[in-house]
Amino acid sequence: MKFKTPEDYKNEILQGNKVALSKSITLIESTLSSHQKTASEVLSAILPHTGNAIRIGITGVPGAGKSTFIEALGLYLVGEKHKVAVLAIDPSSSVTGGSILADKTRMEDLSAHPNAFIRPSPSSTHLGGVAQKTRETMFLCEAAGYDVILVETVGVGQSEITAASMVDFFLVVMLPNAGDELQGIKKGILELADAIIVNKADKHNLENAMLAKNVYENALHILNPLSQTWSPPVLTTSAIEKRGFEEVWKVILLHNKKMRESGELQQKRQKQSIAWMWNLLDDKFTNHIFAVPQVKDAVLNMSKAIEENRISAEEASENIYNSYLNSLNSH
Ligand code: GDP
Repeated sequence: MKFKTPEDYKNEILQGNKVALSKSITLIESTLSSHQKTASEVLSAILPHTGNAIRIGITGVPGAGKSTFIEALGLYLVGEKHKVAVLAIDPSSSVTGGSILADKTRMEDLSAHPNAFIRPSPSSTHLGGVAQKTRETMFLCEAAGYDVILVETVGVGQSEITAASMVDFFLVVMLPNAGDELQGIKKGILELADAIIVNKADKHNLENAMLAKNVYENALHILNPLSQTWSPPVLTTSAIEKRGFEEVWKVILLHNKKMRESGELQQKRQKQSIAWMWNLLDDKFTNHIFAVPQVKDAVLNMSKAIEENRISAEEASENIYNSYLNSLNSH
């Protein structure tokens, strides 16, 4: 099937055509400027048809069971007649060239389902670029009628904060050995959580899981709540035994209802979009000034000067900025 114009893409995407959806995502991920132009036109065209999904972020240490959890939750949701898209932000893809979902055959059942759409993380040279593409892909999926978007990320670097900045509900998946985990947990991650999931709460492991639940509940009590209307609960699941998912979904729906009614959901999404605008603008400015040869030289020189303790970061940034101003004046 050939899609020629952004209008063709839009019409097919709105009808839920997966080929058109995949192809438009490929355009988003392309570095060719002609592709980027079409991608941006397609995005503008579908924008009025976005925003109707529940956007859920899922993080956790490797091995916590995120993929198994996502597949089990996804299968539960398609069973409930939802259309589910699974996307990923993988901070390691730029290093390994791989991606968290690409090499996983574990979501076989879900990916075979007609109402599921699974897209691995795009590879890019920096996290900002990857995440921007994931966010745009989310919009395309919403236009294609997916009403639940699951965004997976691993707990590395800034990736959780970035994932949390594009979703309505952020889930942190933990293991039932809470004592060890609380010590190793990244500061700040609990603050992002709208719910904590203690996974691997298998029948034979329920006692540990309940102990862990207790530890996390206490840890959450100490924190200031993100919202006046929501206190993050701790839930238990067994992704292997496919237990606990009905409860997880109930909690997500309740959160969605409360946030809609209080107006917080709309505010959150607006704030997220403004924050993204600034991020993208930062990127554009940085790319723009870095393309000026004098600025590039100044950045290299100043970095060296900082390393050699010859100059402060403040003075270095001032010098770089001045070299940019000078380059403008010399035109
Ligand atoms: P991820 O790295 O966080 O995506 O974790 P995976 O989904 O790949 O799971 C890591 C391992 O934990 C795999 O061997 C899974 O089969 C296993 N696993 C996932 N969920 C459960 C669960 O609920 N119970 C048990 N016993 N094992 C699980």
